[in-house]
Amino acid sequence: MRILDIRERSLPISRYTGPAGAGGLTTSVVALTTDRMKAGRPIVGYGYASIGRYAQGGLIRERFAPRLLQAPAETLIGNDGILDPFKAWQAMMTGEKPGGHGERCVAIGALDMALWDIAAKAAELPLHAYLADRLGGRAGQTDRVRVYASGGYHHPRNDLAWLADEMRRFADLGFINAKMKIGSASLDQDLHRIEVAAAALGEPGRLAVDAMNAYDRPAGLAAAATLSPLGLWWFEDICDPLDFETQSALASAYAPPIGAGEALFSAAEAGLLARHGDLRPDRDVLLFDPVHCYGLPGYLQIIEVMTAKGWARQAFWPHGGHLFALHLAAALGLGGAEVTPIAFQPFCGLADDSVIADGFATLPQAEGIGFETNTALKRLFAELAG
Ligand code: MG
Repeated sequence: MRILDIRERSLPISRYTGPAGAGGLTTSVVALTTDRMKAGRPIVGYGYASIGRYAQGGLIRERFAPRLLQAPAETLIGNDGILDPFKAWQAMMTGEKPGGHGERCVAIGALDMALWDIAAKAAELPLHAYLADRLGGRAGQTDRVRVYASGGYHHPRNDLAWLADEMRRFADLGFINAKMKIGSASLDQDLHRIEVAAAALGEPGRLAVDAMNAYDRPAGLAAAATLSPLGLWWFEDICDPLDFETQSALASAYAPPIGAGEALFSAAEAGLLARHGDLRPDRDVLLFDPVHCYGLPGYLQIIEVMTAKGWARQAFWPHGGHLFALHLAAALGLGGAEVTPIAFQPFCGLADDSVIADGFATLPQAEGIGFETNTALKRLFAELAG
């Protein structure tokens, strides 16, 4: 089994609905065609660079795709004769020095997603079942996963009406919990936005807020003091992800749950957060995005670092809103996964026939990740693969 062709395309995506108003945000989609035939067609693996860190076309096309294509085919195959994503990961990382992640970790993560899609398709299993078998037993759920709906970006025109409508739609879709963005308006305005969103959703305890790392220390502490009494689900990405001194001060000032880790990309950085962030394993939430952390091999290293420091797997709620994270949450026994039901089209929602009920999502049972179970993504990826 070998990879014959790797294609990448950069696409505009938007925090609202369609690409209009995207503010230049992009992501990379990849298609990896293999020589393994199934029902008369080659197995093709699909992946994308999650959302939030821009497309990585240059790195994928110039560095990581050529390494995969040039590696001797037998060095990428496991004992079962199937392409082994861990071996492929080693090939992609050839010559890369530790540290200085830049966004190479995102380029590798996009390709890694497609490699797992290939492996699970070749094994004729949905990815969650393939991973549960491969990574040592079924640690987690097998039929459904806890999820929350993500959105609530500050809308340039009719912000409050948009926000309330979005939160009501989340509740109508079957979500219990949701997340909105803060930090781009004044704290007073954000407090009002939070009240509106919480009322539309049902209660503040169902609502997480995400400051997208916008606050410096004084602003973060002021927000922590204001939001403390509200009883929010969690308060995410408060300060610069590498400012552990401020993270620690915030943990002292804000007793309810804090979410962190989304903008940290390696096991070494996770170790710094564990040692110096003073987060609380009994309540806080870890948001590392497997796609942004060098893919699943990098994400597993992060889980190892954090669990060795006393964190439970249930504390992990991977960022990104992608089907890949849903499979990982199931196979690895994580707390749950993010879903973006409306934003970032066409990378929104899950499978066409996914059922969300009482805050849980059903898992796709198609082989691989199951992008083909989402009409818009199926069309997009098929076009890319040609
Ligand atoms: Mg975030």
